Amino acid sequence: MKVGVLAIQGAFAAHAAVLESIGVAPVEVRRPAHLEGLDGLVLPGGESTTLSMGLDRAGLTDPLRAFVGSGAPVLGTCAGAILLATQCLDGRSDQVQIGALDVVVRRNAFGRQVDSFEVDLEFPALAAGAPPGRSAAPFHGVFIRAPAVEEVGPSVEVLARLEGTPVAVACGSVVATTFHPELAADPRVHEFVLGRSPAGRR
Ligand code: GLN
Repeated sequence: MKVGVLAIQGAFAAHAAVLESIGVAPVEVRRPAHLEGLDGLVLPGGESTTLSMGLDRAGLTDPLRAFVGSGAPVLGTCAGAILLATQCLDGRSDQVQIGALDVVVRRNAFGRQVDSFEVDLEFPALAAGAPPGRSAAPFHGVFIRAPAVEEVGPSVEVLARLEGTPVAVACGSVVATTFHPELAADPRVHEFVLGRSPAGRR
């Protein structure tokens, strides 16, 4: 299968490396034509305001919205999660919202860069690879100037929380994490997302 990684700005190389490690060919997406024939897409972290401007400049905003709405598996991490949300607080008023996840996020809600942190998260949906009857091992969450999910609509499933705040959410084949799973040396979140849609199963 071929999975795109939005390569406008931010942490795209680390996502590509995770995809390669699980036998999936990563395709860097910089122009609308790069979306053709993809089986899934990753929207990496970075700076959502900069990403938004890059998307508009590349003519990618509408093609991306169409791809995300197509039912293919999509993973948005950190700034990518902000893009997928319906509403963003503390962003620019003209920032792109793809609106595939009915959530309200607040940028930089956990503090400044110096306040970035790492914590093990319970993520029961990752149990697929665990021995029968056992829950999944915790997932190591790396949070870098992460947004907080402040409101969750009825269509959204919360997959993981940190002290009550959702940090991984999903709606159908679209999944967002406010942490950086590509930095955990653990491909389970990517595997989980790519297995979510029948078309995306390897
Ligand atoms: N603070 C960034 C933003 O608002 C997100 C940080 C990240 O992706 N690591 O877009």
